[in-house]
Amino acid sequence: MNYEEDKPVSYCGIFGIYGSETASQQAYYGLHALQHRGQEASGIVTRSFNGDCKAHFNIVKGEGLVSEVFEDTTLLNEILAGNSAIGHNRYSTTGSAKSRKNIQPFMVNYRLGNLAIAHNGNLTNAKALREELVNEGAIFQTTSDTEVILHLIARSKLENQIDQILEAMRRVEGAYCVTILTDDKLIAARDPYGFRPLSIGKLDDAFIVASETCAFDIQAASFLREVEAGELIVIDDQSLQTGEIQSYKIAEQPEQQKHCVFEFIYFSRPDSFIFGHNVDKMRRKLGKVLARKHPVSDPDGERIYVISVPDSSNTTALGYARELEKEEIDARLEIGLIRSHYIGRTFIQPGQNKRETGVRIKFNIVKGVLEGRTIVVVDDSIVRGTTSKQLVKLLREGNPKSIHLRISSPPIMHPCFYGMDFPSRSELIAHSKNGNIEEIKNYLEVDSLEYLTIDEMLEAVSEAGEENFCTACFSGNYPTPVDINFKKEMYEI
Ligand code: SF4
Repeated sequence: MNYEEDKPVSYCGIFGIYGSETASQQAYYGLHALQHRGQEASGIVTRSFNGDCKAHFNIVKGEGLVSEVFEDTTLLNEILAGNSAIGHNRYSTTGSAKSRKNIQPFMVNYRLGNLAIAHNGNLTNAKALREELVNEGAIFQTTSDTEVILHLIARSKLENQIDQILEAMRRVEGAYCVTILTDDKLIAARDPYGFRPLSIGKLDDAFIVASETCAFDIQAASFLREVEAGELIVIDDQSLQTGEIQSYKIAEQPEQQKHCVFEFIYFSRPDSFIFGHNVDKMRRKLGKVLARKHPVSDPDGERIYVISVPDSSNTTALGYARELEKEEIDARLEIGLIRSHYIGRTFIQPGQNKRETGVRIKFNIVKGVLEGRTIVVVDDSIVRGTTSKQLVKLLREGNPKSIHLRISSPPIMHPCFYGMDFPSRSELIAHSKNGNIEEIKNYLEVDSLEYLTIDEMLEAVSEAGEENFCTACFSGNYPTPVDINFKKEMYEI
């Protein structure tokens, strides 16, 4: 197991662009910026007109990082010609989800023309819908829930394509952000609870849609606004002339939105703007509340050294150290762990019995920072706990006086059905220890361990509205009904 496999992983990042002569290159850069949202596979579909006024769809997709799938960027505009594109980065973890067939975007040709789709999220009623569609004669090519949306659109009796897509989106439940490319439009939609982020940007005359705004920054595009929860937007040639996009309502927004709080804790990049706020600011706040509620002080009055588990906890650790200083605790942020960024997909991972090597490949300690000191390690989450344990073991080699672990999320007790992939419940350390923090501390062999509580976490993100967050993986309170068969199948419930 590598370090990332002991972290929550999201299924995907999505991108769309309409009205740029270098659409595939823009999609490439956008997907590159969204690489953290999925590293197993990547794909781009473009729409071109090859002198016959007929729309042609071109596709390249494959396993690996964006830079591996699209090796020769000089050929991008030839192979993936056209002024509009959608793209997808994917992460999958188990069984059939790894199949090549499941790599997105998916593309079909049906009675109203070409249609390609890229999806980020998880449809909680996909199984029931799939059964219904199969009974009606639909033949599925993949095991992905995204294909359900395609079949719903293709089998619609309605004549207008936007109506067909709206009808399909009204039937699916759970978490979704989608980009859809048709012969003459780029369409994007976000579920009524707004679980996952989706933003609209502008690059000269072209419009862009992306999971996170860091995909705009990489190409100096400007941020326009977020796709609202429950909104479907349509961008076409008219939009390029007028600068206006069409907006449709998929469903009334529920009273409270349910953004995934993990996007702020761990998943989104700190330089992105999501759910109306800068991730960096929210992550610092999580660190500050963690320091206020769970400080560490040295019994001999010596300085505390705060270190992050790079890179995802860097910002949180900064917030933590600053807050301790504010509370007049002698604390300093230090770099005690160095992370290697050069582990490609093909790097030989050590076998299951060599977990220790796995952590060493990823991290090394700075002995001079650790020796004889009281160390606070700030991390964003603990999933299985296996790599955290190895990391603590590694830190001990630096002979610190003591190691205190501070986690900027509550214990993960339940599975996520909205697009974040956790292992089965029995593998979640907090679940297997019945949420007993003392037992987890003993397992990890740290001198102290504290997590944020659910209330403390919500206090930290309260600027975005405490009620506007999903906390299901901590609390078990799922904001939408979840198909019991789906639960059983995926999570041994
Ligand atoms: S269950 Fe957890 S990971 Fe899933 S959407 Fe809710 S907060 Fe995010």
